[in-house]
Amino acid sequence: MTGRTHDLIGFASLITVAVATPSLSLNIETLVVSIVGNVVGSLIPDMDQGTNKLWDLLPAGNFVAKFGRKIFYKHRTITHSILGGYLLFIFLKFIIPKIFNPNFVDPQIVIISIMIGFVAHLVADSLTREGLPLFFPFKFKIGFPPIETLRIPTGGIIEHFIVLPGTAIYIIWLFINNKDKILSIAKLLHK
Ligand SMILES: [Zn+2]
Repeated sequence: MTGRTHDLIGFASLITVAVATPSLSLNIETLVVSIVGNVVGSLIPDMDQGTNKLWDLLPAGNFVAKFGRKIFYKHRTITHSILGGYLLFIFLKFIIPKIFNPNFVDPQIVIISIMIGFVAHLVADSLTREGLPLFFPFKFKIGFPPIETLRIPTGGIIEHFIVLPGTAIYIIWLFINNKDKILSIAKLLHK
């Protein structure tokens, strides 16, 4: 799936979790960092593609970007696996409290938001023809439905005209049907 589809699916998943398990405390700093983190998390698995938007955020000619674009020899390996998700989680637990002052930004909410984007990406990719190397370094790929031809081709008509608008409609539906919960989350910001 394309970056835009992953962004939207990641965001839809974030709101779904926020509505299903309302947080007891939230401030504006945490909210902003979590939403940005969710977008980043949604794009992390495809950092194994040189064209990924996240590489563009690094300064042009940056060593890390140049190196990073080349480090992954093949698309969809460790970054689309349980092992990759686990390593990302360990890394975030170490780095997030060091980047953001915990007095202003709740590291737990930020980490969960990033991981929601990451997991949503893997779930979405499992619906595509390419399949998902979920158990990397084992080579076999999984997908739903198991028959490849029934799955969605990346960047095709189904993705652009069904998956993308379908996700947008779902987000609108979610807001309309959970007005009270979303208002109570918004009220937390005033405390
Ligand atoms: Zn992907």
